[in-house]
Amino acid sequence: MIRKPLIAGNWKMHMTVADARHLVSEMVPGLQSKSGVDKVVCPPHTALLAVSSLLEGTDIALGAQNMYWETAGAFTGEISPNMVAEFCEYVILGHSERRTFFGETDKDVNRKVQAAFAYGLTPIFCIGETLEEYEADRTYEVVFRQVKMGLEAIQFDNSGDGDGSNLVVAYEPIWAIGTGRAATPTDANQVIAEVIRPALGELFGEGMAQRIRVLYGGSVNGENAQGFFSQSEIDGALVGGASLKVADFIQITLAAVR
Ligand code: PEP
Repeated sequence: MIRKPLIAGNWKMHMTVADARHLVSEMVPGLQSKSGVDKVVCPPHTALLAVSSLLEGTDIALGAQNMYWETAGAFTGEISPNMVAEFCEYVILGHSERRTFFGETDKDVNRKVQAAFAYGLTPIFCIGETLEEYEADRTYEVVFRQVKMGLEAIQFDNSGDGDGSNLVVAYEPIWAIGTGRAATPTDANQVIAEVIRPALGELFGEGMAQRIRVLYGGSVNGENAQGFFSQSEIDGALVGGASLKVADFIQITLAAVR
């Protein structure tokens, strides 16, 4: 396996600073030093500072859940890539909840991915079809467009970060997020094999497409995780609800160890 698995926890809009401290302190002993898998937690912005100090000296990375693409300015309520980069290695971009509730377009997500690269952040770039699109058999068309537009004009540095490890794609069918109705591992694997990696290949070349990690997201839990990770194209998971449950998140992470 050329790609190291990665498990990322998206805490969404949960956890005060006190709750976040408590959760991360309980998680660290079970996650820490589990080699063969990269681990990331993505608390809300207000808890980044507190969680970053608790993760110091561990091998668990920190991610933000969103950011704006501008560096500074009159953008009330937004947070910039350089602010995120003060604490984080990763940033979730284009999550379906951002696209659905906050009107983010493929073009917006593309600007954010470019900004993340400019500040040395690794984007966890999210794509996925709605239930309506799934039922209309439009998954391939939608996911292909999201990859091509969201990653347009992205340049990998051929030296330092040119190994593809500074981009993570998360395939998250929207109908599977928070619903308890996960995609089947074989269906998710097929979308990645037949659409996502070929689209990455068109953008970056076949070799790079094979090195970029592609996660599955959507109702992953401790029970079903192993089924996803046994698929050849699935390199880990972006986990929502179960990332707030210590035992589940640890179980998912251990299932990904290679
Ligand atoms: C998510 O928020 O990206 C997600 C996949 O949520 P859940 O695991 O709860 O479906």
